[in-house]
Amino acid sequence: MKGKLLSLTCSCGGKMKKAFVPVEFFGIDFGVREAEVCTKCNAEYLDEKLMEKIEKEIKKKGLFGLESKVKVTKSGNSLVIRIPPEIAKFTGLKYESLLRIFPVGKKRIEIEAL
Ligand SMILES: [Zn+2]
Repeated sequence: MKGKLLSLTCSCGGKMKKAFVPVEFFGIDFGVREAEVCTKCNAEYLDEKLMEKIEKEIKKKGLFGLESKVKVTKSGNSLVIRIPPEIAKFTGLKYESLLRIFPVGKKRIEIEAL
C-alpha cells in the first residue's frame, strides 16, 4: 500500500508515512494494523490507542514480567548476550538450540527459535 507522507518526522530525521504492518509482540500476533512507518529507517510507530490495547493484552498474558535488561559480554570476536532462564523456559530454548538473529532496526535485534 502506498501511504501518504505525514508532516511528522522520525527520530532519524526521515519522513513518516501511513502503512499497514503486521504487529507482533512477545510472539502474540496482533494482526495487520495501521502504523506510521519511517521512509528512511523503516521504524514503525503505532498509535497510542493500539499500544494501550497491546499492553493490556500482554499484561493479561503475564509476558511483561519476562522482559529484562541484560549486559553484552565478549567471547573472542563475538559479543555474547545471556538469555535469562525465565525466557529460555518460556520459549523452550535449550543449550545448543539453533537461533536466527537479525537486526530489525538500528536499535533492535530479533532472535527467532528455529
Ligand atoms: Zn527513521
